[in-house]
Amino acid sequence: MVFILYPKVTQDKIDKFVRGWEEKGFSTILSTGTEHTAVCLIGNTAQVDLDHVVQTTDIVAFGKRITEQYKAVNRTVQEQGTSIRVGDVTIGEGFFTVISGPCSVESEEQVLEIANGVKMNGAKVFRGGAFKPRTSPYAFQGKQKEGLEMLSFAKKETGLPVVSEIMNQTQLDLFDDIDIIQIGARNMQNFDLLKAVGALKKPVLLKRGLANTIEELLMSAEYIFSAGNSQIILCERGIRTFETMTRNTLDLSAVVLLKQKSHLPVIADPSHAAGIRSLVSPLSKAIMAVGSDGIMIETHNNPAKALCDGAQSLDLEQFGKLMDELKERASLEKKVI
Ligand code: PEP
Ligand code: MN
Repeated sequence: MVFILYPKVTQDKIDKFVRGWEEKGFSTILSTGTEHTAVCLIGNTAQVDLDHVVQTTDIVAFGKRITEQYKAVNRTVQEQGTSIRVGDVTIGEGFFTVISGPCSVESEEQVLEIANGVKMNGAKVFRGGAFKPRTSPYAFQGKQKEGLEMLSFAKKETGLPVVSEIMNQTQLDLFDDIDIIQIGARNMQNFDLLKAVGALKKPVLLKRGLANTIEELLMSAEYIFSAGNSQIILCERGIRTFETMTRNTLDLSAVVLLKQKSHLPVIADPSHAAGIRSLVSPLSKAIMAVGSDGIMIETHNNPAKALCDGAQSLDLEQFGKLMDELKERASLEKKVI
């Protein structure tokens, strides 16, 4: 962390400022220019509130962090990308893992038909929401506990690992048979929940919040990692912009940046990004082209009758066609799909 002091600050004030940091256990390096003095702080600056220092210290003109606040998930600590194993499935570099299934679990017949359909076409993980975070309290809230049981049933029948969204830590016990725990966009900064899944020994799929920066997503991953769980999959799912023609705006740069900044696997969700079925296929190909480690797509056996997000869901035939196209491209990208 570096502080640039105002010009013509007296030596007394500089000494006092430096002494203050040294008393807190930091070392300092001073660089005196013709106009400004720079004070470089060395030590664990993670707990230093930069803005607070700048605003409350009358000799400091501005300050800047030199290293990122996310440490454990940072690529600088691990050059090699992290690979996550779920049963026989790998999520990480060299793979393009397709996760698919309905927005929400509706019935045993529904999950079984979709799970078999997506599996036949090459999906490696089955998704389905049992606890649904809906904008309206009057909208379908998901089948909840019963929905998780239906997912277990689909898992048993098809052998596919399953992923489902948790909404708060009181639900944790219900998720014993769920292979990957999803933290949805609306909970990305639910820090108690992040700490709770950080104590688990199973993978967590962490989705980017609707209005959260890439750095904030990485800091949320840091919460999970620093609580003891390194099995984290980051997911870009579109952010809210001024655009109204799509549900959200897919931020493809985020996929690239997350891969550069962190060693964690990164996937993207074109369904929630677009909100429109006809965009899912083209966006999926773009997601693969920018180097994503996988994708999560909503697929339904009868999208017109879906209880949630039917408009963005592919039917099984459309999913099959997309998978054919992705498989062709995967060989060019030298990825196992
Ligand atoms: C979902 O994946 O079902 C979901 C609700 O997504 P998001 O949290 O990205 O809105
Ligand atoms: Mn959905």
